[in-house]
Amino acid sequence: MVHVLDTHQLGRRGIIAATVIEAGEGVAVFDTGPESTYENVAGALRKLGYGPNDVRDVFLSHIHLDHAGAAWRFAELGATIHVHPRGAPHLLDPRKLVESATRIFGDDMQRLWGRIQAIAPENLRILEDQEIVHLGHLEVRAIATPGHASHHHVYHWEDKLFGGDVAGVQLGDGPPIPPFVPPELDVEAWLSSIQKMKDLDAKQLYLPHFGPARGPVGPYFDELEERVRRWADWFRDRLCEGDREEALRADFAAYEASDLQTGGATFDQVADYEAADPSSMAVTAATRYWRKAQAEAVTSVPSPRGTS
Ligand SMILES: [Zn+2]
Repeated sequence: MVHVLDTHQLGRRGIIAATVIEAGEGVAVFDTGPESTYENVAGALRKLGYGPNDVRDVFLSHIHLDHAGAAWRFAELGATIHVHPRGAPHLLDPRKLVESATRIFGDDMQRLWGRIQAIAPENLRILEDQEIVHLGHLEVRAIATPGHASHHHVYHWEDKLFGGDVAGVQLGDGPPIPPFVPPELDVEAWLSSIQKMKDLDAKQLYLPHFGPARGPVGPYFDELEERVRRWADWFRDRLCEGDREEALRADFAAYEASDLQTGGATFDQVADYEAADPSSMAVTAATRYWRKAQAEAVTSVPSPRGTS
């Protein structure tokens, strides 16, 4: 049985989920949400008849604070935190993670994400690609799926898939969109990861933003893939035309909003998408991606210093 718990981050519904399965003696949680919403998740667990102490395993898709921020709270209560090898060092010593998030969010860190503390090594388990964790009768398989972040796993059990952010963001009546964020956006890797997820032929897909994906999983991924390609191309073309990051912000926000509304999102839901996945982050991410990783594809793009 899968339960999608709403973290109610900043009091908003349907933006960030903690996904729970009952397994063995207790429960397992796929992405905890931020530390600032720990009490909300604890309360939602109590309504299911469990408490935070019953969380034996936490499976992290990646270590961004909206997904992994509360992991240390469950680790303190004895849970095992499962994570990709490249995410583990930042859970053991979160200083760099906090520094880089502070560069983006500044004084808003505490309000958005809460407190961050280190996880003890004995509570951390590094999972390699394709590694299986047994939970009672369930076998949960970690699958390395870079693109949104280099250290991203999705988790597959039975005919179900917990997709993390690489599986897209879908809110309300809106379509699936790819959350492009700096600094690790990799479009090619993202497309390969979508193919990997499709090949699993899962019947149900759970998203941290937010809940069960609507409709059959295959067409969902087709739509996500189309948007990864089209959005990446939109940025490449604009950068090739010489547009600067600042100019792209307003244009991409408008482009995304119109894409969302064409895809079925209401006006309010467009604002929800912006809360879950700010469009300005996509501009920073895509600009960085095309300038650095794909320098040869955009040779006419001026360098950030304007020297070439
Ligand atoms: Zn996220």
